[in-house]
Amino acid sequence: MRLNKIALNGFRNYDFETAEFGSGTNVISGPNAQGKTNLLEAVYMLSCGKSFRTRFDKELIGFGASSAEILADIYSHDRDQTIRIKMDTGRPKKITVNGVKKKASELSELVNVVLFCPDDLNLIKDGASVRRKLIDNAICQIRPRYAELLSEYNRLYEHKTRILKDWHEKPSLLDMLDDFSEGMCRVSANLIRYRASFTKKLNEVAPPIHSEFSGNGEKLEITYKTVSTVRDPFASAREIYYDICEHQEKHRQAELDAGQCLTGAHKDDLEISINGRSARSFASQGQTRTAALSLKLAEREILLEEKGEYPILLLDDVLSELDVKRQEFVLNRIGGGQTLISCCEDEGISKRTGGKVLFVEKGRIR
Ligand code: ATP
Ligand code: MG
Repeated sequence: MRLNKIALNGFRNYDFETAEFGSGTNVISGPNAQGKTNLLEAVYMLSCGKSFRTRFDKELIGFGASSAEILADIYSHDRDQTIRIKMDTGRPKKITVNGVKKKASELSELVNVVLFCPDDLNLIKDGASVRRKLIDNAICQIRPRYAELLSEYNRLYEHKTRILKDWHEKPSLLDMLDDFSEGMCRVSANLIRYRASFTKKLNEVAPPIHSEFSGNGEKLEITYKTVSTVRDPFASAREIYYDICEHQEKHRQAELDAGQCLTGAHKDDLEISINGRSARSFASQGQTRTAALSLKLAEREILLEEKGEYPILLLDDVLSELDVKRQEFVLNRIGGGQTLISCCEDEGISKRTGGKVLFVEKGRIR
């Protein structure tokens, strides 16, 4: 898959601008606050209809504009296709592919991306939510059904949290509590099966990359952690459901006392170890960065395996955060697909990659 051209109208700091991309490496360079990340954000949205920076579409609309539009010419499934995403204030966004209305979760059938930004370098040491986001983003692109389950789960989670927070003032809310808990157990069971099999794959693909990258054959290991009563995350959804219900029953009172959801897939995590020791507790800064890069590059390989094509790789300001050895490792590994690299000034990256250079200044692209 390939992004050939994008037009942005009223999107963030772009009034009306177009950019054309090469099929290999594209370097997006320019001073701070000119629109480099905004451009990558628009490209990212082509894969899932959502931003990686905000949940609120209205933030994507340019200051002073009433709507924003992303129009993209892509090459996917052996033909040219056009994706249009239109955001109007106060209205749900509209997505079309070749003029036909689509759901956001359907975009992953056309465009896949792997995004890597400086925050991802803390993937190992940060809280569980960033690791869940890594696997969620990847599985959403591989299995559109998963994206639907995930938004269903988030909806249930928000409702239930509201009940747990407000039931003191409004005890009648408790009438609905068990229905929401049951729904969360049911959807969790499905999410867990997807996550377990993705993690298994990640644990096959990432360790060899990490071992090569670390230069001294370090052994990376990734284990999936979910609700403690789940005996086998690969079991049938029904078996997992019963295991989670058991946890739910035990924690019902604690949830009411704490005002928080304590049972479900929203607390899942990946446990990452290097040479048998918890990376979160023991790994050095360099080791955790190497592991984070290996996980991201593994995500790219898994998408290739699943889709038969490399996803578009988006590297937002990440190379300048790496030492030369790690930069080289990444640049040597990104062949075979389209890559968009944003960086502050030229940093010699365009010369080293031989890629096309787009210079961004004040919402204009040259
Ligand atoms: P850096 O190198 O610092 O990361 P950047 O080129 O990646 O800079 P962007 O994050 O793309 O910068 O942001 C460019 C500008 O867009 C910022 O000045 C920001 O304030 C502005 N901006 C963000 N949202 C909107 C919006 N909705 N409307 C107009 N401008 C916006
Ligand atoms: Mg930026």
